[in-house]
Amino acid sequence: MDKEQHSMFDAVLARLDKAAAIYGLSNDVAEVLRHPKREVAVSLPIKMDDGSIKVFEGYRTVHSTHLGPSKGGIRYAMDVNTDEVRALSAWMTFKCAIANLPYGGGKGGIKCDPRTMSVGELERLTRAYTRALVDVFGVNKDIPAPDMGTGKREMAWLLDEFNRITGEDSPGVTTGKPLTLGGSKGREAATGRGVMVASLAAMKKMGINHKGATAAVQGFGNVGSHAARLLVSKNIKVVAISDHTAAYYNEKGIDVDKAIKFVAANGNMLKGFDGGELISGNDILTLNVDLLAPCAIQGVITAANANDIKAKLIVEGANGPTEAEADEILNSKGIIVVPDVLANGGGVTVSYFEWVQNKYGHYWSEEEVNTKHDASMTQAFENVWFNSQQYKTSMRIGAYITALKRIDKAVKYKGNY
Ligand code: GLU
Repeated sequence: MDKEQHSMFDAVLARLDKAAAIYGLSNDVAEVLRHPKREVAVSLPIKMDDGSIKVFEGYRTVHSTHLGPSKGGIRYAMDVNTDEVRALSAWMTFKCAIANLPYGGGKGGIKCDPRTMSVGELERLTRAYTRALVDVFGVNKDIPAPDMGTGKREMAWLLDEFNRITGEDSPGVTTGKPLTLGGSKGREAATGRGVMVASLAAMKKMGINHKGATAAVQGFGNVGSHAARLLVSKNIKVVAISDHTAAYYNEKGIDVDKAIKFVAANGNMLKGFDGGELISGNDILTLNVDLLAPCAIQGVITAANANDIKAKLIVEGANGPTEAEADEILNSKGIIVVPDVLANGGGVTVSYFEWVQNKYGHYWSEEEVNTKHDASMTQAFENVWFNSQQYKTSMRIGAYITALKRIDKAVKYKGNY
């Protein structure tokens, strides 16, 4: 990758190396975690609706299988590349370990712009990707899920294609499926729900009364919209929301339910919403609020804007929203950052519940899923908090240490790197 560009995997390594040094991880284990276990790149020739053939780049990286089969989503976006998928796969390794799940980490992606493709083209692309990776995926091997640009529809195609090839019905080969195909209740809202649980837990530690506390939520997709809705349900005042098309501020609090309905009826775009004053997309990050929840894309909090952030608490719903160079600036300002690998772990936690239900062939109520999720998320938060206090470090490095402890033990027990 171009040296001028920020490597996302370098951002992972910066945190990994710091946590490894503070925890005292052996160089052997650290060195293993610096390298993904397996990386596959595929070319996917697809017949487009106009009859032409277009070749798409697809990737799947298995970063680690030390704690169990690799787990992680599939992203459809134009910036997908080896470095990004590698970084996201490593974050899945740490995320699953922090959430105490029996999984390693993996991630996949296709370089494409799903917003400009027809449903038929997306289906052919998803099926071609599945065929190309059929040897990588497996219910006890590598388990995909949705990520940016994908959802239950893509998971249904992936499952169907996988089952056709293998001749077996294995619903647990992917998670984030539609309910009728073995999906779990509560899965869609789970990442946003985890952001809410982590925000409340952090506010409690910080002595902030969450009732009436103010929040700005960047991103209004599957993570941000549910996070905003659930924060409001706990009486937190969400004063600003945004997506890739617009950002809105309302001092009295945004009517989030109204915004969700608006977006659903407006081609998934927030632009044109009349429930607040239009502000610039960058300004949402620097509002004077108690909580900032970046739930959109990576790399939005940088060394250039970190100094302007006024929130007391940042809860990272997105993967990698803060560049490594900004960590120290936020720490020196006394801002508590609940890092992505902890804060957005609610999604993969309920993915795990979905996989367990698929294995059982027995399905839980939404209440049961949510109760288990909240307990698991709260426990993960406490473990990270404990480690950050014990090692006198930030929550981000405390989170990595929490993961390294588990992975280190697994490697030692197995006696195999
Ligand atoms: N893509 C989501 C994430 O980044 C969910 C992964 C999963 O459920 O496997 O955490």
